[in-house]
Amino acid sequence: MTVLRSLILAAADSPRVQRFMRRYGFRLGAARFVAGESLDAAVPVLRRLNEQGLLTNTTLLGEGVRDEAETCEVVASYRDLLERVHAEGLRTNVALKLTHLGLSIDEELALRNVAELVEHAAQLGNFVRIDMEESAHVDATLRIYRRLRETGHENVGAVLQAYLFRSEADLAALLPLAPNLRLVKGAYLEPAEIAYPHKRDVDAAYIRLLETSLTADGFTAVATHDETLIEHAIAFAREREIPQERFQFQMLYGVRTRLQLDLVRRGFGVLVATPYGPEWYRYLMRRLAERPANVLFLLRNLVRG
Ligand SMILES: Cc1cc2nc3c(=O)[nH]c(=O)nc-3n(C[C@H](O)[C@H](O)[C@H](O)COP(=O)(O)OP(=O)(O)OC[C@H]3O[C@@H](n4cnc5c(N)ncnc54)[C@H](O)[C@@H]3O)c2cc1C
Repeated sequence: MTVLRSLILAAADSPRVQRFMRRYGFRLGAARFVAGESLDAAVPVLRRLNEQGLLTNTTLLGEGVRDEAETCEVVASYRDLLERVHAEGLRTNVALKLTHLGLSIDEELALRNVAELVEHAAQLGNFVRIDMEESAHVDATLRIYRRLRETGHENVGAVLQAYLFRSEADLAALLPLAPNLRLVKGAYLEPAEIAYPHKRDVDAAYIRLLETSLTADGFTAVATHDETLIEHAIAFAREREIPQERFQFQMLYGVRTRLQLDLVRRGFGVLVATPYGPEWYRYLMRRLAERPANVLFLLRNLVRG
């Protein structure tokens, strides 16, 4: 599994794979994981999920922007998105990547851009989650999250990845802020010097992060499709009498849909991460790497034409 995962993530950089996938990938498989190539296409999907009792977040797909002018366009698109969500009365917040807002160009630029969006979201009563990307960006991302919180922004959250050795120390350092944290296993290809290569170690680290976060101040988003971890979180929260307003489950659009609805029926808050946009390629490749069986799903669609 680990080898297949690495192969798929490495293949994602191949120009030939990129050409093929950009041409045929949306029709063949991306539509399962992405709400549409435009906001207009995504809005009815978000509404339908809300009607099923699910909260949602959305993301304009894209990352690794290298040009300052391009980051201004991304900020403008996110401002439009926040206004549209407000106008449509959707129960949808925003999750974004700092490299989409210029982190690879200049940390101050990314901070200015995200601060503008967090401020705009606050005016509209909304919330912004900063996704976590490759390990090279973790320090800057956490610095930016801390600066936002220390300058009075409350409607912003961050993400910690259980596969990184450092995440437990990062969590301890963030706890005095009563942070809003999403906990994930981690979706990138990271070297064994800094990340657990084996699932059992990642799962054990996830449980440590989960229990620490749930018993501290703040809010915990348990973002996993792993039923063992989900049931562990439920049992732990019940045993420690942690109120339901202090945590929620989060899953990806197109993954374990029945489990999402079962948790809603059991009375838990469930948020479905539902991205959209024409830049869906890297997002799709990470979804394939998480579950190589998804490649078969794609190939089946290819054979069916
Ligand atoms: C809401 C949300 C936000 C995320 N944000 C980030 C982030 O900011 N940074 C980051 O690095 N990662 C992020 N991730 C991805 C995360 O790191 C994992 O790669 C992903 O969630 C798969 O791990 P898992 O916890 O579901 O457990 P796994 O052990 O990988 O999976 C458990 C079970 O879930 C099902 N499953 C998992 N993934 C898929 C899939 N793609 N397709 C179909 N079935 C699947 C399978 O049945 C599998 O057996 C996010 C995930 C979620 C749910």
